[in-house]
Amino acid sequence: MTAANIIDGKAFAEGLRTRIATVAADFEAKAGRKAGLAVVLVGEDPASQVYVRNKGKQTVAAGMESFEHKLPADTSEADLLAVVEQLNADPAVDGILVQLPLPAHMNEQKVIATINPDKDVDGFHVVNVGRLATGLPGFVPCTPLGCVMLLKDRLGSLSGLDAVVIGRSNIVGKPMAQLLIAESCTVTVAHSRTKDLAEVVRRADIVVAAVGRPEMVKGDWLKPGATVIDVGINRVPAAEEGKTRLVGDVDFASAAAVAGAITPVPGGVGPMTIAVLLRNTVVAAHRNVGLSLDESAL
Ligand code: NAD
Repeated sequence: MTAANIIDGKAFAEGLRTRIATVAADFEAKAGRKAGLAVVLVGEDPASQVYVRNKGKQTVAAGMESFEHKLPADTSEADLLAVVEQLNADPAVDGILVQLPLPAHMNEQKVIATINPDKDVDGFHVVNVGRLATGLPGFVPCTPLGCVMLLKDRLGSLSGLDAVVIGRSNIVGKPMAQLLIAESCTVTVAHSRTKDLAEVVRRADIVVAAVGRPEMVKGDWLKPGATVIDVGINRVPAAEEGKTRLVGDVDFASAAAVAGAITPVPGGVGPMTIAVLLRNTVVAAHRNVGLSLDESAL
């Protein structure tokens, strides 16, 4: 393994945020207001609180307006839907994100379906899922879009490559597969019922692991030279008593010895997610007021 085969998502995300800040400043000059992102958090889940705090900080650092709505865990679904409706109607809000997971008494699909699809910067609304599937412009979920950006930055054209996506979630696996189809890859989606997973992975020029199982994908599953994108974020016990560390779904040491390029965890896909959220927000802002923007340059 050499440093050259590490895909540095942290550095890429930093560059993306710099480009976004320039575009956000240009938007403000032309529209007479900042692009705005509203984040709604229900309850006190510690991980969600950290995500929301980071999103807010990075939104402001990129020169955009951050609106945070923190609601108690016992908020009724009707009250949450009323907040979403109010944000739909607010012209200062270009993007709306409802932090998941929601408390058990709420229907996540119903809440997402209430967001105006043109403000759905997470890309989870069925309208945006349909737009992605049919090749129409919409909003694409941030994590898989970030993965494709890293892949294209490393490989250039992805056309004709064999890609295996491990995982079929609505948030990562399925949109990832759609994006790779749109890039003209030959795509296989593997999941918990896939037979001979190692054999399936061995065919791939591109492997995207989005499973949630620590270090599951081993180096000897990979075709030599394959590009490996590790979406997994798993907290496992560290060598030092009482401490923990983060690992991906790929066994980094063995995989990096075989892969042509690989994302580390942390510092690979993770930093891309919020950067792409900011990208989607500044894109939404331009579309919402009818200003033109070369979205492919972002
Ligand atoms: P999920 O639990 O919704 O889906 C996991 C998928 O893995 C399922 O489709 C399941 O079929 C598949 N799977 C489970 N066991 C398997 C096995 N043994 N073999 C093959 N496939 C198997 O998870 P998700 O929301 O898609 O997230 C996946 C991972 O990505 C998690 O570690 C999560 O923390 C991480 N994640 C990271 C980011 C980020 O910002 N970097 C964003 C979202 C998710």
